[in-house]
Formats: sequence, structure tokens, C-alpha cells
Amino acid sequence: MSGDCFSFETRLLHNKTKFDPTTGAVSVPIQHASTFHQTSFDTYGKYDYGRSLNPTREALEEQLAELEGGTKGFAFASGMAAISTAFLLLSKGDHVVITEDVYGGTYRMVTEVLSRFGIDYTFVDMTDLHAVQNAVQMNTKVLYVETPSNPTLKVTDITAISQIAKRNGAYTFVDNTFLTPALQKPLALGADVVLHSATKFLSGHSDVVAGAAIVKDEDLGNQLAFLQNSFGAVLGVQDCWLVMRGLKTLSVRLQQSVQSAIKLANYFQQHPLVKKVYYPGLEDHPQFELQNKQAKNAGAVLSFELDSEELTRRFVEHVKIPVFAVSLGAVESILSYPAKMSHGAMPKEEREKRGISNSLLRLSVGLENPDDLIADFSNALQHTYSTVK
Ligand SMILES: *Cc1c(COP(=O)(O)O)cnc(C)c1O
Repeated sequence: MSGDCFSFETRLLHNKTKFDPTTGAVSVPIQHASTFHQTSFDTYGKYDYGRSLNPTREALEEQLAELEGGTKGFAFASGMAAISTAFLLLSKGDHVVITEDVYGGTYRMVTEVLSRFGIDYTFVDMTDLHAVQNAVQMNTKVLYVETPSNPTLKVTDITAISQIAKRNGAYTFVDNTFLTPALQKPLALGADVVLHSATKFLSGHSDVVAGAAIVKDEDLGNQLAFLQNSFGAVLGVQDCWLVMRGLKTLSVRLQQSVQSAIKLANYFQQHPLVKKVYYPGLEDHPQFELQNKQAKNAGAVLSFELDSEELTRRFVEHVKIPVFAVSLGAVESILSYPAKMSHGAMPKEEREKRGISNSLLRLSVGLENPDDLIADFSNALQHTYSTVK
């Protein structure tokens, strides 16, 4: 009963793993076995060794594939494990065109690890399609997109980038961590590989580190299966279970968080003490229309800028509700300081070029009552500025 006819919300619950066929258990059993007894001398069963295939991980991988509209999903030990494994599709001499405000860990992987293996890269502002086209070389193998981007929430046209990639015989990778398939389906827009930090919205409770890759093309699926098994950075079974547990509420969590994010973005935008708000759900966002076209809405992450680093420090010290931490996409609101957290691995000049100043804060909106959050931020802003005078 996989029910292709059901809506996304229903399919989160009513899918192939709805109950265990052997016992009827309504939660996917956690299979700890690392190896599987074989009954024949020379022909072996579907499962032989836990790194290659495990039934618990398989259940999660099938769900991920289904939700993204792919044919194959892969669960990894972290988002970076998923991203790094996908980059193993490349070979020495290949070139990557990558969005300049990419996640800090991906920036580090490309500039400090792939570069040692003879894989070259060009960072571009992917909202500028001419710049992307100009950056493509004979040996370009991947166009790497993150949209909306982190932390300045720029929106990249996935369809347009995929077309440039196809014309040039390259793959399009899309990091879909910020929106998840509940809000954006990159494979349907022409992407080849969808990547996730499942640590964030997919699992949603700040209690598991996990990653995912999903593809539509079967040949690419076979290549990634080979790489997942070769590199071996698979997700453990307990963690697979936690991601599946989190997925059941993905849709309702996002609905609530997005509603609150819109409210908060409007609140910050009209607040005289907030210098700038970054949120693709605001009408004056430069890619507001594109965001509405390629995604269901603008998601639950926004950034805002205060007047100085010192004011930002005081503000953070006065905020009570959100946790002040790295990461995003959880039931609790998370306030982070990109310059020192997610983008700490990026040199200061590179950060500033990307608009990641020392007075920029990122907010991942959780499930608290948004009015409580607004009251908390109002107090903090008032306090910050009154102590300065
Ligand atoms: C967190 C994050 C990653 C890295 O994922 P991990 O699970 O921390 O390894 C990659 N991309 C984006 C957009 C992220 O937010």
C-alpha cells in the first residue's frame, strides 16, 4: 500500500513501511545485525552485510526516495558524509561550479579536500545565470546549488541551472536541507542529485546527526550505491529510526514553523532597530517570485542584521527563548551567529564578500507560540539599545 495517489502529508505516514509485514508492528523494527546467515553455499540473499544493505536503513532510504520523487535514496552518517560521497562521482581533472554562499562545511570540503585530489572549483553567485554560464568549463562535471542559501537566503533558479548543466554534460546537485521535499522538489525541476543534512528539518528534533542523497536516474543510483558501499559512511540503525520518527511530523512541523517565520519576518522588517531582514517570503526579496514559483513557500529560516557587532552581542545575551546554537530545523527555535558558527570555516574576506557580516544573525523558527517569540525579541531589542545609550 504505497499509495502514489495520496498527498505528501498522508504519504509521510502511509507508505511501504507503515507496518512490518512479519509482525504487523507499526514502527519499523531496528535491525542491529551486522551480518546475515546465508542458507545456500554459493548464492546469497538480498542482505549479506550491514554496510552494504540493512533493512532499517533501507526503509528510511525508500521513504526518502519516495518523498523527493526519486528512484533511489541513500542515508549517510551526516549531511557532510552525503555531500562528500556525492562528490566522489567526480574524478581527478574535473571541475565544479558552486554557489558562493554554500554551507561552510561544503566550502571546506571543496576548497581543502577535493582540491588535493585534483578537482578544481569556481565559486559564483548562482542568482546570476550569466556568471554561472561563464564559469562553466570543458571539464565542469557538477553545478552545485543551495537554495535558499545560507545564511543570506538567496534563491537560485533550479530549472535554469539544471538546463545549463544539461547543455554542458554536467550534473546538478541541490542541497535541499532548508526546504525539504515538503516545500521543494529539486528532482522534478531537473536536478540530478538532491542532498540533505537530515540533522535539520527531516529529523527535526536536534537529536540525531544524519544525511541523505536522492536521485531519479537509475544509473546514477547504481553509481551512488557503489560509492556509499565503497566509502562506507552509512547511517547507523538507531539514527535511521530517529529520522523516520521525525519524518512523520515533517509536514505539520513545517506548516507551523513557516507560519511563524512569516510573522517574525514581518515583525523584524517593521522594527526600527533592525537594519535588514533576509527572507524570501518578503515581497521585497529580490527572488520573491522565483521562490513562489519553484517552492511551496519560503521555509522557516530567516536572517536579520543589527547595526553593529556589539549590539548583536548584547541582543543575543538578552534573548531568552531560542537556543543560541549552530544548526537549524528543529522543534525549538535556534538563533545562530553565522560569522562564528556555520561559516566559521570561511576566511573573513570571503565571508564579507557574501554579506555575512559580524552583525548578522540567523533564526530557524521552531514550534513556540510566535507571539512569545516576538515578545522575547522585542524585549531583547529594547534592552540592547537602551543599555547602549
Ligand atoms: C548542516 C548542513 C549541512 C551539513 O550537514 P551535517 O549533518 O551537519 O553534516 C549541509 N548543508 C546545509 C545547508 C546544512 O545546513
